[in-house]
Amino acid sequence: MEFVDLKAQYRALKSQIDERIHRVLDHGQYIMGPEVRELEEKLAAYTGAKHCITVASGTEALLIALMAIGLRPGDEVITTPFTFAATAEVIVLLGGVPVFVDIEPDTCNIDVSLIEARVTSRTRAIMPVSLYGQCADMDEINAIAERQGLAVIEDAAQSFGASYKGRKSCNLSTVGCTSFFPSKPLGCYGDGGAMFTNDDALAQACREIRVHGQSARYTHMRVGVGGRMDTLQCAVVLAKLERFEWELERRSVLASRYSALLDDQRIGLPAVRSDRSSAWAQYTVRIHSGATTSRSTVQARLASEGIPTAIHYPIALHQQPAFADVSIVQACSASELAGQQVISLPMGADLTASEQDRVVAALTSALRAEIK
Ligand SMILES: *Cc1c(COP(=O)(O)O)cnc(C)c1O
Repeated sequence: MEFVDLKAQYRALKSQIDERIHRVLDHGQYIMGPEVRELEEKLAAYTGAKHCITVASGTEALLIALMAIGLRPGDEVITTPFTFAATAEVIVLLGGVPVFVDIEPDTCNIDVSLIEARVTSRTRAIMPVSLYGQCADMDEINAIAERQGLAVIEDAAQSFGASYKGRKSCNLSTVGCTSFFPSKPLGCYGDGGAMFTNDDALAQACREIRVHGQSARYTHMRVGVGGRMDTLQCAVVLAKLERFEWELERRSVLASRYSALLDDQRIGLPAVRSDRSSAWAQYTVRIHSGATTSRSTVQARLASEGIPTAIHYPIALHQQPAFADVSIVQACSASELAGQQVISLPMGADLTASEQDRVVAALTSALRAEIK
């Protein structure tokens, strides 16, 4: 069993993907070819955002977004420590200071009630992460940002396709950033990412920063990066878009089925707020501290039955040596506890019901085994 079955996805889409790739090989415009524009138009239409700018990766999207809003050394960015390192890394790379705010225990998203007290005269932006595929409380975050004059950058690397009060993830903030890493909800066959905004000037800044700050060829009005997404990767995403709605629906069905089958008091099930839908990048449960089986025992037992799992994330960023001296943190006990308890189960549109039954049976028996 695969954690995310990308080979099954390729088999299902083989003719469309092969055709798209060969079209690029034939026209030969490997950088900024017609597929780049086509993908940007389709993704803008999908999210409802006015502008989409494809970039080299999700990390690059976050970096360029912070450069575009003009983050300066010493500026603070309020974010969550319970995320992939890239979220905070880009802040530090620009000389900024991540200010870590704890998470809600049930969704594992940033706890909005803790944000405003952390705003200082140096705060420039709030960077919520739509973790596991579900958006944070974006309306409340945007309201704080408006009161305080801050930008909001949604790290939507895991949530492309998710919706929030009828609107799409990536189109809920000043800039939305997503990733096309192969195992993300919408993936390519290498690295890729995209940024979304409704602000014309910011979109222009992002486009320029993506190509070394050029406003016209060899005219550098600002410092930029080599941050383009290549044409072949755009072609792969275009082919995968054809099945994307079906995949989202399928992951949602599988998530509901997991939750129904895993209704056990030793397991904490993922919570999704009623006003939003998750893209289910991960189906992540918690082994409660009351359970007699430790998470590592559960993980080892599942592995011995050929069932891959993953921990997103074992160590919160405020506990990582890399961020120790370059961040500001108050108590983040919910993030620390989540790091000890969470475990992500196999998930993907091509996971079969019988594979899912095997995961459930193995997990339930692993938890029962230690009780005796
Ligand atoms: C995957 C991920 C990123 C980075 O995306 P890449 O395309 O791998 O650079 C950033 N933030 C979060 C929350 C992610 O899951």
